[in-house]
Amino acid sequence: MGSNLLILIYLLASITFIIGLKMLSHPARARRGNLIAAAGMTAAIAGTIFLYKDENGNALHNYAWIFGGLLIGGTIGTIAARKVKMTAMPEMVSMFNGMGGACAALISVVEFGHLMHGLQSAPGLTVIDAAFQSGLRQHLLIIVAGLVIGSISFAGSMVAWAKLNGKIKDFVFKGQHLFNIALLLIILFMSVYLIGWLPAGGVSLFYIILGLSLIYGVFFVMPIGGADMPVVISLLNSFTGVAAACAGFLYDNIAMLTGGILVGAAGTLLTILMCKAMNRSLLNVLIGSFGAGNKSTGGIKEHGNYKEISLSDAAMIMNYAHKIIIVPGYGLAVAQAQHSCHELEKVLEAKGVEVTYAIHPVAGRMPGHMNVLLAEADVSYDKLQEMEQANEAFPATDVALVLGANDVVNPAAKTDPSSPIYGMPILDVELARAVIVNKRSMKPGYAGIENDLFFRPKTSMLFGDAKKVLQDLIGELKAL
Ligand code: NDP
Repeated sequence: MGSNLLILIYLLASITFIIGLKMLSHPARARRGNLIAAAGMTAAIAGTIFLYKDENGNALHNYAWIFGGLLIGGTIGTIAARKVKMTAMPEMVSMFNGMGGACAALISVVEFGHLMHGLQSAPGLTVIDAAFQSGLRQHLLIIVAGLVIGSISFAGSMVAWAKLNGKIKDFVFKGQHLFNIALLLIILFMSVYLIGWLPAGGVSLFYIILGLSLIYGVFFVMPIGGADMPVVISLLNSFTGVAAACAGFLYDNIAMLTGGILVGAAGTLLTILMCKAMNRSLLNVLIGSFGAGNKSTGGIKEHGNYKEISLSDAAMIMNYAHKIIIVPGYGLAVAQAQHSCHELEKVLEAKGVEVTYAIHPVAGRMPGHMNVLLAEADVSYDKLQEMEQANEAFPATDVALVLGANDVVNPAAKTDPSSPIYGMPILDVELARAVIVNKRSMKPGYAGIENDLFFRPKTSMLFGDAKKVLQDLIGELKAL
């Protein structure tokens, strides 16, 4: 593994990953946490490149390949991360995650080659004897685990990426779930056979397992609805973490091992939390096709009329309010209206109005979407209220201003058992004295269902693109 110094670097790197993860849990510290973990990772990579020595004392020598790869990957990653729009963030996370899975699978391919080469050259032993006697079976187990999990994660993440940016549509056929289960069982059976018996055609079997795992990754994600993609990406992210941890085992590399385990655990926890915030089980997400092309019509009923409000009337109501809670949603991100939103907040505060923001855990298209969006516009963190806190504050609020949010304020989640979002905790905006909803039309949100809130007597609809509406509102308020 290398010198004691290298082990110390790996240990410190592992500590920075844990500190970084902890700091990511608060928006104010998240950026610093990310940088700390990135510094630890840089140290671990540099340490490996310059200090690593194999059991024969040989250092790494193929620097042109290493630095060439670092340069190409680093440049592409930096440009992609700088250019990405907030609404396209889940796509990018998916793509990066897929690359992690591919790396883990490729490590398994390389290490399998090394293992087979080592076994075939063991004097006087058949391959199977050598494997039994040299205790390399565990090694093979980890190689195959990394191969299967890494390639499923890679193929699944690529499908998720293509679905999120609209390149491919959901694809479901009759009996698909049974087909998927059968395919997974075949992969497991072949893997056990390869590890346990190392048959003569072991190399071919290894590549068949690779191919089937890639196919499984594609079919696993294909039927899952667009709205559930962030949950699936988080799940695939945990797969990549486990695959990376396998690689850490193979190379006896504690930084890789801890990093992989942390990603695996964090991805699993995030998946569970997202499912909880939508009040759905993971199984329901995986086989439920929620938010797929065939939008659910559950919960549509006769709603009567809705009330429209003019910009000047909306400005007037807000001007005389004492307390306003802004509820941002996916539409705010689409309109890129976060800066205008912050400006509105400042104009209102200059007039003595107390303004806070209510953040639903799954508002937008990924957890933390709204926090990051508002942080980008310099909205102060202590103005952001979590769902429970905001729900307590709504009854004492004059105006709830809903900006491009829909499902997360839909009362059907509490009242209509036939609704697909029934049971999902929502922001109780209707408890405020007045509700102003900004969106462009009466079209439904991501879950594809009507929203009774828009037809309630307290609610007024303020139609238009969120950014334009906010800028016009600011103009009206300044003129008052
Ligand atoms: P929704 O998708 O429910 O609603 C967004 C609304 O914004 C739409 O009704 C749309 O109406 C409006 N809108 C779109 N563009 C604009 C614009 N330019 N200006 C003004 N309004 C606009 O978003 P929510 O944030 O309320 O809910 C998130 C949904 O995503 C939930 O269903 C949640 O379960 C789901 N989800 C979230 C995940 C997460 O982790 N965050 C994970 C998986 C799913 P119109 O077209 O009329 O303008």
